[in-house]
Amino acid sequence: MKACVLHAKKDLRFEDIPEVEIKEAEEVKVKILAGGICGSDQHYYLDGGIGSAIVVREPIVIGHEGCGIVEEVGSGVTGIKKGDMVVLRPARPCFHCRYCENHQYSFCENMRHLGSAATFPHVQGLFAEKVVVHQAQCRVVKNMKPEVGAFGEPLGVAYNGVHSLGDIIGKNVMVMGAGPIGILCAAAAKTLGADRVTIFDIRQGPLDIALQMGADEAVNSKDNPDAVKKFSEHKGTFDCALEATGNGFAAMQTMAMVRPEGTIAQVGMFGTGHQPTDLAAFSGKGLKWHGVFRFYEEFAPAVNALESGIINPLPLLSASYPAEECVKAMEAAVSPETCKVQVHF
Ligand SMILES: [Zn+2]
Ligand SMILES: [Zn+2]
Repeated sequence: MKACVLHAKKDLRFEDIPEVEIKEAEEVKVKILAGGICGSDQHYYLDGGIGSAIVVREPIVIGHEGCGIVEEVGSGVTGIKKGDMVVLRPARPCFHCRYCENHQYSFCENMRHLGSAATFPHVQGLFAEKVVVHQAQCRVVKNMKPEVGAFGEPLGVAYNGVHSLGDIIGKNVMVMGAGPIGILCAAAAKTLGADRVTIFDIRQGPLDIALQMGADEAVNSKDNPDAVKKFSEHKGTFDCALEATGNGFAAMQTMAMVRPEGTIAQVGMFGTGHQPTDLAAFSGKGLKWHGVFRFYEEFAPAVNALESGIINPLPLLSASYPAEECVKAMEAAVSPETCKVQVHF
């Protein structure tokens, strides 16, 4: 079967790999329909890893955002049958370590996360004709376009971000960064009860998409450099924030704009060297800063929101390429002109 295999930095190939097989009773074999290219896939492609900690050390099938059609189920699978359409949750925890026993599945000590080079041997991803996953990684959907289903994973991250803020009913919420995750955070916050959502970025194109997807106000802080200052007056404007850039400077701006004792969900991942250098606002305003790492139980409501149409992610989709053109797709994904790029099989 064919797959999109990254051999090394900038060396992505559409090539034959051995057919995957069901090996455990609770496994499901899924024929992939569509997959989204995530920031981590782009780092693997451009840099051969993420920071110094995660390095691609052997060929890896990339991709962890996707959906497909069930082709075969193991003898212990219940509630999923051949022909069902499923959205895939990339995380496969072990279900028996100390964190799994405490239901903190994202922090499983034996995590197998689709398309991840964080462990060795690497866990192969889903940009392949077929993939075998645990039944707990499948959410059955009816009548969903594949290109919508492939947003289940990034929307799960956004739902975890909003979840970590606690009660947001009636709150004035800001989102820093209008990448795909930031925009999904804005849509999630709006549909989960925020009164008002304001999103910040320095690029107008993504800000316009954010407005289409539910943000009430989009601030271009490049064209309007005084805006951050204005929102920071009187110790801040927003009740809470979703920081979706992982950029230290943007995180400091976020802290300045959130009111005393507000909460910031840190959805963007900090790379080495990008830490905020000034935490004065953080301590001086008694802020709460909640790290957000992947998601678990947020997957079901996120997929439900896509299935019911409460959130339509398609304004985010810039382009979709057949999998054999995965290099073209990846080059499009890393361009600053695009939002989300997908591949389809
Ligand atoms: Zn992702
Ligand atoms: Zn575990």
